[in-house]
Amino acid sequence: MPLVSTRQLLDEAAKGGYGVGAFNVNDMEQIQAIMEAAKETNSPVIIQASRGARAFAQDNYLYHLMLAAAELYPQIPLAMHLDHGNSFETCESAIKLGFTSVMMDGSLKPDGKTPATFEENVAVTKKVVDYAHERGISVEGEIGVLGGIEDGHGAGGSGLDHVTDPDQAVEFAELTGVDSLAIAIGTSHGAYKFTKKPDGSVLKMDLLIAIHKRLPNTHLVMHGSSSVPKDLQDIINQYGGKLKETWGVPVEEIQLGIKNGVRKVNVDTDNRLAITGAIRKVLWETPEKFDPRDYMKPARAAMQKVVALRMTQFGQAGHASDYTAISIADMAKGYKNGTLVTKPLVAAK
Ligand SMILES: [Zn+2]
Repeated sequence: MPLVSTRQLLDEAAKGGYGVGAFNVNDMEQIQAIMEAAKETNSPVIIQASRGARAFAQDNYLYHLMLAAAELYPQIPLAMHLDHGNSFETCESAIKLGFTSVMMDGSLKPDGKTPATFEENVAVTKKVVDYAHERGISVEGEIGVLGGIEDGHGAGGSGLDHVTDPDQAVEFAELTGVDSLAIAIGTSHGAYKFTKKPDGSVLKMDLLIAIHKRLPNTHLVMHGSSSVPKDLQDIINQYGGKLKETWGVPVEEIQLGIKNGVRKVNVDTDNRLAITGAIRKVLWETPEKFDPRDYMKPARAAMQKVVALRMTQFGQAGHASDYTAISIADMAKGYKNGTLVTKPLVAAK
C-alpha cells in the first residue's frame, strides 16, 4: 500500500471506535520494530518524525526508509507524519519531501518554546491547512500548551500551565479547518510526566470529554502519552541506569480518552526506555561483546513488544485490512469538493 493520509486512518478509527498509536522514529531499527509490531497485530499505523529526528537522520534517509516500510508491508495502512512542525516552512518542506500529514504546532512561537497568542496560532495553522489540503495532506493543530520538553521542543513546566479551553478549541477548529487537534489536558513530553500516579487533579480527562462533546467531528490527539511502565524503568536501573522514579499516563486513561474522541495517541518515551534497557542489559551482562547487532537486535525486539502491546490496548489491532488506501490525489479532491472538510458541530455549553 502506498503511504496513506493520516486523515483516512483517523476517519476509519472513528468509525471503528478505536485509537491509532503514532510512534516516533529516528532510525531504521525503530521503523522495523513498528512495522513488525503492525504485522504481528494486523494494525494500521502512524509513524512520525520530529524536527529533531529529521536533523538526526536527514530527510532523505527517513523518507526512503518509510518507502521501504510501505513496500515491505503492503497490507499495512501506513501514514508518515511530521510531529510538532514549528513554522509554515517546516511543514511545507515535510510535504514536499512526501510526508502524508503534518502537525503545525502553532501553540508555540517558531522558537518552539514561547507560547504564542491564539491569533498567531490560528493564522499560521490556517496557512498550513490551506497549503496542505490543496495537496491532499492532513493537518493536526494544537490548542493549549503541553508541558515538558522533548527534542528541544516545548514550553517546559507543568502540563497544567496552559490547559485547553473548550471554547477556544471550538473556535480554533472552526477558523482553521484542521483534521485533528492536539489538546493540553495535563500531559507532558519526556519521561518525567508525573511525580505520583496521576489522578483527576493532574490529568484533566473531564476537560477532554467536554471538548469532544463540543467538537465531535474533530479527531482529538493525545500527546505525551507514554505510560512509562515501572518494569521498563527497572530494567534500565538494574543494569546501571539512574532514572528517577516517575509516572506516565496510565493506559486506562488513554482508553477512556479513546472512548471520548481521541483517535491518535503519541508514544515515544516508552520505546526509548525499552531500547535503552535492552542495550544496557546486553552490555552489562556480556561486556566482551562489540558487534552492534548483538544489542540492536534485542533493542529492536524490546521496542516491537511495547508497540504491539500499545496497538492492542489502543484497539487498532486487527483493523489493517478494513479498508484500502485513498490516494493522496483523491484526498486533495475530497478537500476541494467539501466531502472531507471537518465541520465542527457546536453543541450546547
Ligand atoms: Zn508532542
